Amino acid sequence: MSIETKDKITEASKITFKDGKMIVPNKVAIPFIEGDGTGPDIWKATKKVLEAAIKKTYKNEKEILWVEVLAGQKAFDEKKDWLPKDTLDTIREFKVAIKGPLTTPIGGGIRSLNVALRQIFDLYACIRPIKYFNGIPSPVRNPEKVNLTIFRENTEDVYSGIEFKSNSDEAKKLIDFLKSLGHTVRAGSGVGIKPMSELGSKRLVRKAIEYAIQNKKPLVTLVHKGNIMKFTEGAFCEWGYAVAKSEFRAQIATEEETNINPALGSEKVLINDRIADSMFQQLLTRPDQYSVLATPNLNGDYLSDACAAQVGGLGIAPGANIGDEIAIFEATHGTAPKYANQDKVNPGSLILSGVMMFDHLGWSEAGKLIVDAFAKTITQKKVTYDLERLMTDATLVKTSEFADIIIQNMN
Ligand code: NAP
Repeated sequence: MSIETKDKITEASKITFKDGKMIVPNKVAIPFIEGDGTGPDIWKATKKVLEAAIKKTYKNEKEILWVEVLAGQKAFDEKKDWLPKDTLDTIREFKVAIKGPLTTPIGGGIRSLNVALRQIFDLYACIRPIKYFNGIPSPVRNPEKVNLTIFRENTEDVYSGIEFKSNSDEAKKLIDFLKSLGHTVRAGSGVGIKPMSELGSKRLVRKAIEYAIQNKKPLVTLVHKGNIMKFTEGAFCEWGYAVAKSEFRAQIATEEETNINPALGSEKVLINDRIADSMFQQLLTRPDQYSVLATPNLNGDYLSDACAAQVGGLGIAPGANIGDEIAIFEATHGTAPKYANQDKVNPGSLILSGVMMFDHLGWSEAGKLIVDAFAKTITQKKVTYDLERLMTDATLVKTSEFADIIIQNMN
């Protein structure tokens, strides 16, 4: 599988959409951002594993033409631009991309390149599957009970970036305006806005329910703090139930409905809701009672890292940011710069993000081959430093060796 420049890619290798359905050619062009810090190490390992799985699964029937696009430090060094227009145009044109972690530029007007990518492409669903691999050290007693997929709203909530510094003119004006509405905010406060819309909430919950139906998951839980924030988080919950009842009536039943008719629970996808704080304790005490979580942005941010910690940490936590057409798959951890170029860190997060990308492309057989080989490698206790330091009698391997062992384990 080759690395091509964009101009060598023909129309036949581009993903297209027809009647809302994605059409993926067998020889498909996928842009990649290798990322900063440890990004190049984990990207090299990931590319090897993804290519091996395609070759073993589909022989020469399917192929990826990798198209490198620049972002982060590499883009700044080469083009004096952290997020070049050409990169954005290429992702927009090719629809599906994969990326390593990117450094957050200090100064220069960009808060975070990752947040910028999500907002530019309106990638409104951040999807994080959280599943335990046998043998991975965990801080909880029964990590195998965790098998969740979190759908986190990715564009609204306190992440919308509307925040004013204490004592700034904007903050003072806003505080005065709120006073005119009868609300008292302490003088000198910093103030932030938490917008949550019907459109943003409904499209996120819609994606979560579609996923549950397609993947035969039993339950979608709307996680919110609506007891305190009635018109934002509370509305998220109401809009969630509204989209479930109006668009998926035949396939879903609410918890209230199953209380009246328990048989519905075994036939349909159950929709319930939980207050965010109680969700945190329930995910520790009885995670096996949950399946798909649909959450506003901030709750989802906290919950996904807390859940990832239960099954082995960020080194193996994959993620995807998905909109209506464009999808970017990414390692969920940062650049871990102190380990850059040491061939040391765990490439699992990016490899498993590649598995999610294969599922998205409809190449799930290749994804399954990787997951099985990954699981086997863990049970053989051949692991990178982050897991080795927590296991007994494990063999410490480098990033590249970990990838090679996964490939050897693909039967
Ligand atoms: P980080 O890069 O995630 O690293 C924090 C710690 O997590 C590392 O020191 C390491 O722990 C562990 N870790 C991270 N990746 C690992 C891997 N692949 N394998 C094993 N362990 C891993 O967080 P940070 O140091 O706060 O952020 C560094 C830069 O990354 C910042 O510029 C930040 O803005 C950026 N960032 C980017 C993304 C993204 O691109 N999606 C996300 C978060 C942060 P030990 O020290 O215990 O070994």
